[in-house]
Amino acid sequence: MPHADGATSLERGELSRADLIRDKAYVGGQWIASDDGAMIDVDDPFTGKVIGQSPSLSEAQARAAIDAAEKAFPGWAQELTRKRGAILRRWFDLVMAHQEDLARLITLENGKPLKEARAEVAYGAGFIEFYAEEAGRMFGEIIPAPVSGRRLMVEPEPVGVCAAITPWNFPLAMLTRKAAPALAAGCTMVAKPASQTPLSAYALAMLAEEAGVPPGVLNVITGKASMIGGLLTSSPVVRKISFTGSTEIGAQLMKASAPQIKRLSLELGGNAPLLIFDDADLETAVETALVAKFRNSGQSCIAANRIYAQKGIYEAFLEVFAKRVSALALGDGFNEATDIGPLIDSAGVAKVEEHLDDAVAGGASILSGGKSSGGQLMPPTLLRDVAPDALLTREETFGPLAAVIPFDTVGEGVKLANDTPFGLAAYLCSDNPATISRVGRAIESGMVGINTGLISTAVVPFGGVKMSGLGREGSSHGLAEYVNLKYLCQAGL
Ligand code: ADP
Repeated sequence: MPHADGATSLERGELSRADLIRDKAYVGGQWIASDDGAMIDVDDPFTGKVIGQSPSLSEAQARAAIDAAEKAFPGWAQELTRKRGAILRRWFDLVMAHQEDLARLITLENGKPLKEARAEVAYGAGFIEFYAEEAGRMFGEIIPAPVSGRRLMVEPEPVGVCAAITPWNFPLAMLTRKAAPALAAGCTMVAKPASQTPLSAYALAMLAEEAGVPPGVLNVITGKASMIGGLLTSSPVVRKISFTGSTEIGAQLMKASAPQIKRLSLELGGNAPLLIFDDADLETAVETALVAKFRNSGQSCIAANRIYAQKGIYEAFLEVFAKRVSALALGDGFNEATDIGPLIDSAGVAKVEEHLDDAVAGGASILSGGKSSGGQLMPPTLLRDVAPDALLTREETFGPLAAVIPFDTVGEGVKLANDTPFGLAAYLCSDNPATISRVGRAIESGMVGINTGLISTAVVPFGGVKMSGLGREGSSHGLAEYVNLKYLCQAGL
């Protein structure tokens, strides 16, 4: 129960506001159960127990969500931008007022440490706050005409009904990052959260409703992913899909969207490199590696998947890094001391162990950690002398396995970093301005962390190059993804 001072001593799974845990979908302003009563269990990754359910909607119900968004679109698109901004602002205030409950919900369904879940709520709310302000800044243009008697105008228009498909690793922030700019621009949305983590999405929808988001403007649905994906891509009403998830599913969605030339934003796999150069500050390098690798137990698309250390700093870096990795606390996300929570599911654990086995078979040695001792808790693990062609350098590990690979020259480091079809985030540590400038430019990625592993915020354009995706989320560039530019040419003036 909540204490009088606002601090909570809630049981695992309890919230101060119990009604934020929903087991219904949100369509056209109504909370609906599935037609046939089918439900999808939501598991607590730490205990393995079922802690909630989401409805598995029928195709007709999923279609009704698209219809509701279509019906709501004209009114929302014509609403004053100030009004849309004010509603978003109220949504932001409500999310922050419920930060602790939402964080508990994230920890419950995703397993991440509570301190990281609180940070996710603040980060996710940041998008709502940013786009609440940005809504009023969707300016048009008057372009000086090259001939007389004409006025050339450019007017921003909302794209229309948009869809969001979001992953389980940042279940709250990945949804606000899409819904906030869409709503600010005047679009309406059908959102499908990952089936492992629907609860925070439904809680967000509930707070959006309380903030005054009109019925049909934001719909949240759950069910069979392939059925919903098929409907969203084939519906001519849905004009844009914003997806965060695997490259494989992203490519499928792109293919299915091609016949209708649907707009897409795709935030896909990462395989981020971290380059540590001889001229790096040792403590900064260790801190960067810890954050870039182990946040969210390594389950992030911008997680440093490959750590390359130049030979002059390699041994010193490993010595300090090993101490810090072995000090990371593994356990229940609800324990305030926990640094590394459970992985999302047993398939996640199996993948990390496969990468570990492969690296060791290729000559790597384990400095800290090792295999899981059962369940979904995977110990933070550090490997040295990993071969540059180990499996983990080619696939995203998505777990707390840090692999350090030595390299000789700056040029060799850049070549290794770029030796991937992906290009989302990259990190580099150096105190030499020339190295920073040269490598920062040479790295093929959408984002570069320089002497930091913490780069995400609502005010910057997040996104990738190469097979890591299309489009940007966050900042004014993220709003542009939900806007069409209409050019009007008036003659006879
Ligand atoms: P991950 O490996 O991180 O779970 P996925 O790409 O499988 O990544 O999942 C990301 C999101 O895409 C989730 O919401 C998931 O339910 C959804 N998804 C999975 N398969 C499909 C599909 N065929 N069509 C549409 N969405 C899908």
